[in-house]
Amino acid sequence: MQRCPCCNARLSGDSRCSRCGADLGRVVSCEQLAGEWLSNAWRMMCAKKPDIAAQAINRSLSFKQTQAAQVFRQFLVHHQYRALYEGLAQQNWQNARQTLAVLRALHGNNETLSRFQDLIDFLSVGDAEAVQDWQGRSSL
Ligand SMILES: [Zn+2]
Repeated sequence: MQRCPCCNARLSGDSRCSRCGADLGRVVSCEQLAGEWLSNAWRMMCAKKPDIAAQAINRSLSFKQTQAAQVFRQFLVHHQYRALYEGLAQQNWQNARQTLAVLRALHGNNETLSRFQDLIDFLSVGDAEAVQDWQGRSSL
C-alpha cells in the first residue's frame, strides 16, 4: 500500500498515516496475509494439490483482491477445465468429479458445472450397466 486509503497521503511504511493519523495496521496485515495465501496456493499447485490451492487462493482474495491473485485464480480455473476434459476423455469419472468440486470451490456452482455433473453421472452409470451386462453374459 503506497497511499493512505483515508486521505490519499503518500505512506512512508509506518502503520499510522502521518497526515490523518489513521491506523493502517490491520490493512497492512491483511495485505501480508493475502500475499502469504497466494504463496501457499502456488506451492499447493506445484505439489499437484489443486483442491487445496483453490482454498488458498480464495482465502488470499478474501484478504485482498490483488491482480496477482486474480490472475492465478484464472490460471487455476483454466487448468482445472483442462483436467476435467482429460478426465472425461479418459473416462476417469472419479477424477472428473474431484475436478468439478475444485471448479465449484473456485466460482461456485453454475449451469455449466451442473451440466458437466449430469454428463458424468449419466456416463458413469452407463459404464456400470455395461460392466453388469458383461458380467451377466460371462456367467452364462
Ligand atoms: Zn491518511
